[in-house]
Amino acid sequence: MNAVGVDVGGTKIAAGVVTSAGKILASTTYPSAGPREDLLSSIARAIMEVADGHEVGWVCVAAPGFVLSAENRVVFSPNLHTIEGVPLKEELERRVGLGVTVENDASAAAWGEFRFGAGSEVDHLVFVTLGTGIGGGVISHGALMRGAQGAGGELGHFTIDSKRPLCVCGNRGCLEALASGTAIARRAREVAGERPDSALGTLAAQRKVLGEDVTELARGGDEAALSVLEGAGAWLGIGLAGFVNVFNPEVVAVGGAVSGAGDLILSAARREVRLRARSPSRDLAEIKAATLGAKSGILGAAALARDDAGQYVLGN
Ligand SMILES: [Zn+2]
Repeated sequence: MNAVGVDVGGTKIAAGVVTSAGKILASTTYPSAGPREDLLSSIARAIMEVADGHEVGWVCVAAPGFVLSAENRVVFSPNLHTIEGVPLKEELERRVGLGVTVENDASAAAWGEFRFGAGSEVDHLVFVTLGTGIGGGVISHGALMRGAQGAGGELGHFTIDSKRPLCVCGNRGCLEALASGTAIARRAREVAGERPDSALGTLAAQRKVLGEDVTELARGGDEAALSVLEGAGAWLGIGLAGFVNVFNPEVVAVGGAVSGAGDLILSAARREVRLRARSPSRDLAEIKAATLGAKSGILGAAALARDDAGQYVLGN
């Protein structure tokens, strides 16, 4: 039996029908912008489009924000307010005639990497996704840690330094406020002001600097851009050192758009983990780039689709 995974983001909905071996048989994308009714009908259309002609058991929708997976509901979603509070399971089941469950998008991506990607050989995985924000997921003894309400695994909102910038969640100095793409772009604009003669400074004088510009300039050897990524990598590593101490993972996989910077960020993160995490956990944990890219959301969501008995449709 196959399952449909739906990855709902701030700008688009990606859906795919997935086999138990992790093969995507069909996929599609729709925009997620617009009013609530448009969002619901686009998700439903995406599901029906990919399911057409395939044997499909269940559907899992991975959504951004704080998700109560036990209630199949998103309670807070700073990048997609239209999805907040919607009884997604009921609304979508009525539209598509298939069973639907709801999970956090980063938890789904973590599960995707665990089943089919960077964590497929291990039982203990910490996954961190670096994008506009920072999400995460923890797999321990082969099971996704959800917490009592299913709202756990919010690794991006782990406080790193309480005196640092305000986070979208209202707290100060979260990992997300220091090492996300948004944080990198903000820090790059500061550094550009301090070092106007650098390539970063020159670009900032022409237009607004984005996170991907920093990676591009760093690859070209610009010291200012390199220092920004090194700084973000160090903050990331401080967070990862905590996760390594707490969860004792075999693999820490770093995904998301910012992870495209690769070792420009990960080298500094590994250094901080070596300095700060405790033995034997720090000696075991391998910190590496995730391998599935943007597909981790669809694959992980499909692999988290559960039947009425709570069993994963694609197996464990
Ligand atoms: Zn936060």
